[in-house]
Amino acid sequence: MIPTPETKLPKVETTIFTVMSALAAEHNAVNLGQGFPDFDVPKRLVDAAARAMADGLNQYSPMPGLQSLREAIADKTECCYGYRPDPNTEITVCSGGSEAIFNAIHGVVKAGDEVIVLDPCYDCYEPAIDLAGATAVHVSLDPRTFAPDWNAIKAAITPKTRMLMINSPHNPSGAMLNRDDIDALIELLDGTDIYLLSDEVYEHIVFDGAQHESVLRYPQLRERAFVISSFGKTYHCTGWKVGYAVAPPAMTKELRKVHQYNTFCTFTPAQVAFAEMIREEPEHYEELGAFYQARRDAFREQLKQTKFEPLPVPGGYFQLVDYSKVSDLDDMEFCRWLTVEKGVTAIPLSPFYANPPKGQRLIRLCFAKSDATLDAAIERLKAL
Ligand code: PMP
Repeated sequence: MIPTPETKLPKVETTIFTVMSALAAEHNAVNLGQGFPDFDVPKRLVDAAARAMADGLNQYSPMPGLQSLREAIADKTECCYGYRPDPNTEITVCSGGSEAIFNAIHGVVKAGDEVIVLDPCYDCYEPAIDLAGATAVHVSLDPRTFAPDWNAIKAAITPKTRMLMINSPHNPSGAMLNRDDIDALIELLDGTDIYLLSDEVYEHIVFDGAQHESVLRYPQLRERAFVISSFGKTYHCTGWKVGYAVAPPAMTKELRKVHQYNTFCTFTPAQVAFAEMIREEPEHYEELGAFYQARRDAFREQLKQTKFEPLPVPGGYFQLVDYSKVSDLDDMEFCRWLTVEKGVTAIPLSPFYANPPKGQRLIRLCFAKSDATLDAAIERLKAL
């Protein structure tokens, strides 16, 4: 008898990003939905990757990542956050932030455990938790400011809680954890045996002179944390899928056991190129906040010509807008209508929630786009 699969992930459907991008293509809409930059990748990075391939660096790299790249990441981390992780025992290069997150969860989360996630949250978290046989426990962020409610998080902790997942700057809202949040987090986790997974893939995209409160700055947090980073966001190359995890040696050891039999290693020429890029052109990540802040400001100025109300954007490359003055459709229907009838694609917020707040009228627009793309979108939104 031919087996028919009984799904292991009954809640999973095609991600909203893929659905909306397909709809955008079908209706020739300006796509501000899926979060990918349409800027050129830095020339040095492309040249270095091409050179690596031409030079024959096309075979497996070491399982944890190229030594030169891990050394460069260690130095950059020390420069940014005042802590130098050991490249040999604390840094693992993975195929994107997503693989690093999957490996971290599967490295330490066991069947029957609980993992606290803060809604709205990025959509790759829960399937990884489900596949580990664990349960995602959803706690909502404030529906307007997206700040964590530390008392609610504390109330969600049980003897089964194995991990807490946080994300700053936050996708989809751009909200950032501040020093008070860090203090609350330190107090919350003190004396527990809960792991922290800190998704910091937008670490360099922070605005208005704010400091990114990386968990790596704080010894009381990093001693129990997997900190996740993605070169895709930092270097405008989401399709290269290279990221990394920083974690203490015993945790890294478990993460690497999963990585070793999941992908084993990550595309070698890209690793060569990132090592060169980090060392030779640090201004790229140092100036990334200013680069995106200019785009954010210009886009928000343009939005004033529309009826959409922008929420504050402290970091990241997404602008949430309230569309209450345009329509009272729910967000899924509104995004469909906006694409099909008005030619602009956005991402609804409800798929980022287990239980979306009733009556929330927010959609996500990605401003990591060229002037021409943003201008075209605004022309269409103005007409509403
Ligand atoms: N976390 C968040 C919050 C993200 O937005 C993304 C990418 N959209 C990832 C993780 C995954 O990063 P990568 O593309 O490097 O796998």
